[in-house]
Amino acid sequence: MSDHVLVINAGSSSLKYSLIDGASGAAVASGLVERIGEPEGRHVHRGPSGETSATLEIASHEEAMRAVIDAFAEYGPSFDDVEIVAIGHRVVHGGSRFADPVLIDDELVAAVTELVPLAPLHNPANLEGIRVARRLFPDHPQVAVFDTAFHQTLPPEAYTYAVPLEWRDDHGIRRYGFHGTSYAFVSGEAARLLGRDLTDLNLIVLHLGNGCSAAALRGGVSVDTSMGMTPLEGLVMGTRSGDVDPAILAYLTHELGWTPDKIDHALNHESGLKGIAGDNDFRELTERRSTGDPHAQLAFDIYCRRIRKYIGAYYAVLGTVDAIVFTAGVGQHSAEVRAASLAGLDRLGIQLDPERNNSATPGLVSTDGSAVAVLVVPTNEEWQIAREALTLLR
Ligand code: AMP
Repeated sequence: MSDHVLVINAGSSSLKYSLIDGASGAAVASGLVERIGEPEGRHVHRGPSGETSATLEIASHEEAMRAVIDAFAEYGPSFDDVEIVAIGHRVVHGGSRFADPVLIDDELVAAVTELVPLAPLHNPANLEGIRVARRLFPDHPQVAVFDTAFHQTLPPEAYTYAVPLEWRDDHGIRRYGFHGTSYAFVSGEAARLLGRDLTDLNLIVLHLGNGCSAAALRGGVSVDTSMGMTPLEGLVMGTRSGDVDPAILAYLTHELGWTPDKIDHALNHESGLKGIAGDNDFRELTERRSTGDPHAQLAFDIYCRRIRKYIGAYYAVLGTVDAIVFTAGVGQHSAEVRAASLAGLDRLGIQLDPERNNSATPGLVSTDGSAVAVLVVPTNEEWQIAREALTLLR
């Protein structure tokens, strides 16, 4: 029986889980409990016998986790039939302290709690998932895998903002970067597809999902990334603005009397594609754009222009680029975004092959003659978390 890892991603009102076969990466079961704390919660479980879904009130993350355990017992696979050797937790913010996965103990919980001010939207939920899993699976080793860890290799000139240095040294205000498990997975896959050693490759990776970020990887090591102290900076996202002039915040405060919380909410939840077009789902946006909707078109144009600017910036940071890699929901599925972001960059050695780009198959989408390969690589953050947990335990 091969080793399995139960991977848990706890959000403020949701609990996502996958039972991963560590050797093959297959999710032998997965599911989602959502609307925790609301009257009508929902639990979807996918197991060997297909998908089941239930609507029920789920008061807390602990109740959610109990529902997950019950679903495994009822719909499979039974915990008697698969050996769970570890529980892997996605933790969004590891600050400057964590560059690697860590075995969870009381000290780790205290350290992640200290980091809550840096990630008030995410770390408290991740911690709740950890607390509940430790209670309900007391005999299983539990591992925290941080979204920020991969970017701990950034040089100081990439992670330090040009603000008074005390802000960084006394308050931890610096760029950390996120989506690290995705970058780790996707860069390994890109090297495999190119038949090259990752340590010999310079890559620009674009993780374009609900959250979007870009990273410049030299020899597989992160040297720059677009998300900052929080996941708000950088590319345009579903509901997040990405880069804005920081003076806008003072303007909103002084001229409109907005509170910090209101501004924070607007930039994180009411901006990005949603702010421009009223829709944060890229599929909907694509549909509306195809019917000539001007707001959908403007949102698409802003989104792709930002990606293009980061590609140019990271090309310059790296000097030479072997491949540009697109991943996550939009990066993997939207040929239009890839085409618009890379159009006219032949002089940089980037040449998309329209036929390959429009086919729904991941892999190489540039021409054979393109000096810079363009790849579509589906990400698999759950498998990466499982692999990192297993590596740590071994
Ligand atoms: P993720 O966070 O990786 O799950 O990505 C979610 C985003 O990918 C959403 O905006 C989806 O609308 C978008 N997405 C998923 N499938 C497609 C598709 N076939 N075409 C365009 N966008 C897609």
